[in-house]
Amino acid sequence: MNLYTKTEKKHANIPIFIPHEGCPNGCVFCSQKKITGSDERADRNIIPEIEQALSTLDPEKYDTEIAFFGGSFTGIDRAVMERLLKDAYSFIKSGRVSSIRLSTRPDYINEEILGILKNYGVVHIELGIQSSDNAVLQASKRGHTAETSLKACEMIVNSGFVLGGQMMIGLPKSTLKSEIDTAKMICSAGASEARIYPTVVFRHTELCSMAQSGSYIPLSNDEAAVRAAECYKIFMQNGVKVLRVGLQSSENLHCENDVYGGANHPAMGELCESKVYYGIILDRVSEILSSYRGEKTLILECPYKDISKVSGQKKENKKALLLFLNNKGVMVKNIKLVGIFDEAFKINARFAY
Ligand code: SF4
Repeated sequence: MNLYTKTEKKHANIPIFIPHEGCPNGCVFCSQKKITGSDERADRNIIPEIEQALSTLDPEKYDTEIAFFGGSFTGIDRAVMERLLKDAYSFIKSGRVSSIRLSTRPDYINEEILGILKNYGVVHIELGIQSSDNAVLQASKRGHTAETSLKACEMIVNSGFVLGGQMMIGLPKSTLKSEIDTAKMICSAGASEARIYPTVVFRHTELCSMAQSGSYIPLSNDEAAVRAAECYKIFMQNGVKVLRVGLQSSENLHCENDVYGGANHPAMGELCESKVYYGIILDRVSEILSSYRGEKTLILECPYKDISKVSGQKKENKKALLLFLNNKGVMVKNIKLVGIFDEAFKINARFAY
């Protein structure tokens, strides 16, 4: 039998947004509390949403997962949570969906809850850790400590779930160092996946009032991308898959007018990955500097699908690299990008006449 004739299925998520109505917490960045749309109530019937999504996915080509997101799934009304899980699980039992993913807060995890999740076929649990620095958690009025996050991670991993760590960039009192420490903590806590959320300041939130009064300075898109890239590198080095950088349009970002400021670039993930690429390019190019013999071109072989990220927004990576090389006495005139790899973040560098 030829093992290579079978093509692997692609992964597809069916996102189901579950708001935490009546949430008792007061995260300063939260924009969920003003969501009142009847189509986004937690206790709605989710079966038509799932059926609709499945009707667009070819089961021969896609391995499908139902993803409950909203941040506090295990903190919602218990009967509603169990009904939602039961409805989602019916699709697993019929073989139309392979697993369930959800996101929740560290203080809404305990052994009893994990037992319920296990019974309903949940595989991935994403935890809104946000920061490993208690000063940041306190200034953000997050309502839990870093110790609570660590304990929840331990319980999730020991119970056999796949752990995902969600962290934020640019919260009040947060620094690049505290963000790097948070990424390291997520890795050492046994996470297999991560999401990085640069802070967006939504109108009508406490964070917005803080920004308006000057007690909080939001990050620019570029600052957020640089800091997110440093965390991204730590996840890469530790084999933790980064699922996303930046909010999805469906995650609270209902309308441009909702946003006061902060890291709100529509392609934040691309900005961040472009910075990650620049670091890798510098490493590869530094390795070949001593082989320079007056060639006019630097050729960078890179993943074909990531050529725009390698080049950078408005070609900023190419421009910065040219400056770097010229400052080192390497007087190349052109940088040519050649897409040859499938594997992300793979780069080869060589000089050519
Ligand atoms: S972000 Fe914080 S305040 Fe908002 S719903 Fe989630 S836990 Fe509650």
